[in-house]
Amino acid sequence: MSHVSPVKDLSPGSDPGPGRTRPDACPGALRAHQAADGGLARVRAPGGALSARQMRALAAAAAELGDGHLELTSRGNIQLRGLAPGAEPLLAARLAEAGLLPSTTHERVRNILASPLSGRDGQGAWDVRPLVTDLDQELRARPELAELSGRFLFTVDDGRGDVAGLDGDVGVLALDLGRAAVLLSGEDTGLRVSVEEAVDTMLAAASAFLAERAARGSRAWRIAELIAELEDGPARILTRLADRLGRAPEPGPALVVRPRQHGPVGSIRQRDGRVAMAVLVPLGRLSAQQADILADAALDGGDELRVTPWRGVVVPDLPGDGTGHWSSTMDSHGLVVDPASPWVGVSACAGRPGCGKAMADVRADATWVTRRADEGPGTGLPVHWVGCGRRCGRPRGRVVEVVATGAGYEVTRDGHVLARTGDIEETAAAVDAARRDQ
Ligand code: SF4
Repeated sequence: MSHVSPVKDLSPGSDPGPGRTRPDACPGALRAHQAADGGLARVRAPGGALSARQMRALAAAAAELGDGHLELTSRGNIQLRGLAPGAEPLLAARLAEAGLLPSTTHERVRNILASPLSGRDGQGAWDVRPLVTDLDQELRARPELAELSGRFLFTVDDGRGDVAGLDGDVGVLALDLGRAAVLLSGEDTGLRVSVEEAVDTMLAAASAFLAERAARGSRAWRIAELIAELEDGPARILTRLADRLGRAPEPGPALVVRPRQHGPVGSIRQRDGRVAMAVLVPLGRLSAQQADILADAALDGGDELRVTPWRGVVVPDLPGDGTGHWSSTMDSHGLVVDPASPWVGVSACAGRPGCGKAMADVRADATWVTRRADEGPGTGLPVHWVGCGRRCGRPRGRVVEVVATGAGYEVTRDGHVLARTGDIEETAAAVDAARRDQ
């Protein structure tokens, strides 16, 4: 089974996990979370897919209603911050006009991660993009699934193993011969389904979770929380699902699903001779101007953008001879196109001024430290900066953590404190050493 160790999601708007006593307060497009710097709205983009017009609409909304930036989340969604009180209806009208709010009842549950390069670069068993569209449509068509929490996550992996290990609740992992493995909470269940059965199976699994939750009187938001509450939680969901499908798990070794810590960066040759450009957005913070440049690039390709769970954006279908222009344009506007950039593998929580609990402006400090680094992560572990011990947004897998203490930073790895200092130069040196010395 998976070697992925469970990591609790402690981002703002959540509580610490099992034994939930209150309803899900996860932000959406219609209900903003009140952060220290104003309202925070989260817009779901299933599979991370946006058109150029939609990216421009988001950029304009951020500039006119928010703080001028879009935040890319680890689920390929987009956040706007700094919204004034009462801005939600204005934002909703703009999103609806851009086709980004196809449902008001299900808008927070459209959390679908998919392999961003599926169908383009020749990797993977089969193209999962049509599946994402169908899953989103069918999810919205089932009233009972509006009861899922805003944190419940579907993963649709085309077989390359890039999103299957990213903390999903229900997922499919494409296999050869048009089949797929069914995953619950990132673990291979042994159930195998055809492409045609995949969407119904994922929705049936989500329904089975809701049924088991109701039967137990639980308020768990996620399957991992049911596992923590009830030792046999996943087995019961699997039994309900297998009964519904009328088949049993297949014998044989379970597939091992590991977290993918870095996404694609740079130019990727597609099977059709065109090029996909994978751009990393430093700390996931995209200015309105940068968003407009990505929209311009999309119009030079197939009018499609894919926000990735690694705080990046893929622009597919660019003409093979135009990538030099786009590469230099993006680089000159602060978007990363070099896979050896020191920004690869660097992430941070909101910190000050966005979060009232933060003890430092972690983004500013992470930026200062990263800019002085001269080598990319090919040489080291990912690093995650946080403004307090809640450690929001910590990536899966082994990570160097830099935790603000109020008197500086603590650098930790594998649960051990490696350095504690109030000097930013010393913090930088400790981070560098911790990333390299594994
Ligand atoms: S400072 Fe960062 S880690 Fe702490 S609660 Fe705020 S967002 Fe989370």
